[in-house]
Amino acid sequence: MREGSLEAPTRHPLAWKSPEFWDQAKAEKELERIFDICHGCRRCVSLCTAFPTLFDLVDASETLEVDGVRKEDYWKVVDQCYLCDLCYMTKCPYVPPHPWNVDFPHVMLRAKAIKFKQGTKFRDRLLSSTDAIGKLAAIPVVAQTVNAVNRNALARGVLQSTLGVHKDRELPPYAPKKFRSSFRKSPSFEVRDGKNTPGKVAIFSTCYVNYNEPGLGHDLLAILAHNEIPYVVVEQEACCGMPKLELGDLEGVDALKKKNLPVLAPLARAGYAILTPVPSCTLMFKQELPLMVPDPDTAAVRDAMFDPFEYFVLRKKDGLLRTDFTQTLGKVSYHIPCHSRVQNVGQKTREMLEAIPGTKVTTVERCSGHDGTWGVKTEYFDNSMKIGRPVFRQMAAPQPSYISSDCPIAARHILQGMGDDAGSAEKAHPLSLLRKAYGI
Ligand code: SF4
Ligand code: SF4
Repeated sequence: MREGSLEAPTRHPLAWKSPEFWDQAKAEKELERIFDICHGCRRCVSLCTAFPTLFDLVDASETLEVDGVRKEDYWKVVDQCYLCDLCYMTKCPYVPPHPWNVDFPHVMLRAKAIKFKQGTKFRDRLLSSTDAIGKLAAIPVVAQTVNAVNRNALARGVLQSTLGVHKDRELPPYAPKKFRSSFRKSPSFEVRDGKNTPGKVAIFSTCYVNYNEPGLGHDLLAILAHNEIPYVVVEQEACCGMPKLELGDLEGVDALKKKNLPVLAPLARAGYAILTPVPSCTLMFKQELPLMVPDPDTAAVRDAMFDPFEYFVLRKKDGLLRTDFTQTLGKVSYHIPCHSRVQNVGQKTREMLEAIPGTKVTTVERCSGHDGTWGVKTEYFDNSMKIGRPVFRQMAAPQPSYISSDCPIAARHILQGMGDDAGSAEKAHPLSLLRKAYGI
């Protein structure tokens, strides 16, 4: 068998509708097969804490092989995986079409799904219900109370002991006004399709932008309007499903898909580029849903979905993006999140920021260790800070004016991890930086 595949990686659809997928003994057999290959390879040891957990179990076993690890200990590895996909996309030479067929994240997902069906904590169900929490927190008095609890050390101690949300995790506040009820409608512009880009855009705003950081959505719309690109904000949206996927709640993901796709698929077929300002949500539509539910609607949405900076850079290539920047940004420490990397579109945000005169971008391409909800949980908080340490150090090194990441959740985590090393650096999303550079 040759060492690694020379062909482009492919990915098999997730066979979650087949009864075999849910058979625990069969799933453990597949875990054992893949763990055995990983034990002989060990390339991924520094990526996250799932691999060191596995290798420690093997090294502590009597046989010093995977067959010496107790099956019930496999779940310790599964719990450490937050499905960032990096091992699959950036490290593993044995992914399909290689005959060894190693898809580590998907075997983790299968195990998580089996575990979810056996019962899951109230905390985990709550944290993955971003839409329901957001709707509740959209009531001003509830938002004020939640934000006050988040800032109160005593209340956070209670939250940790009752709910398992780590008391030191800095949580995003809820905004007084939702994005979806405060956005500015698109001015009327002519639709100018480019060679690489549709000339009209539909925005899937995401739960995070809608409820927590509506400013990012407003920045995106301001940039589109400045470039005379007509847009619509999709009429109705539910969570993209990523938090439920990370928990293994596949039925929950499917239920959300059934709400979103009937709205998004007609927009895709009508020639809109669909943009979401959060990389995990973009990835959900670009990769996870088409693998989970391979049908014409998910394929149409996948093909219409762009990361915002992927769209801007292609628009620039089409000669249809303004580059009349009026403000410099100085030194920017920019972190490219895992869920941007695995979209396989290259470092488009860096490219765009570097096109702004007087801007020096330091790019950090490592996992920050937060993930959507993983790093919030009491039992994983310390590991999430440990994984992020090299990122915190590299982001602080240039003494930047701005700390930036396409993932607003990672940016908050990075700023927390940098502590005093952040100096006077300001946290700013790349969309906010681009808007600032335009002077709009
Ligand atoms: S998907 Fe990410 S967290 Fe999971 S094992 Fe791979 S690198 Fe680690
Ligand atoms: S996922 Fe692939 S690269 Fe990583 S340790 Fe396993 S076999 Fe090696």
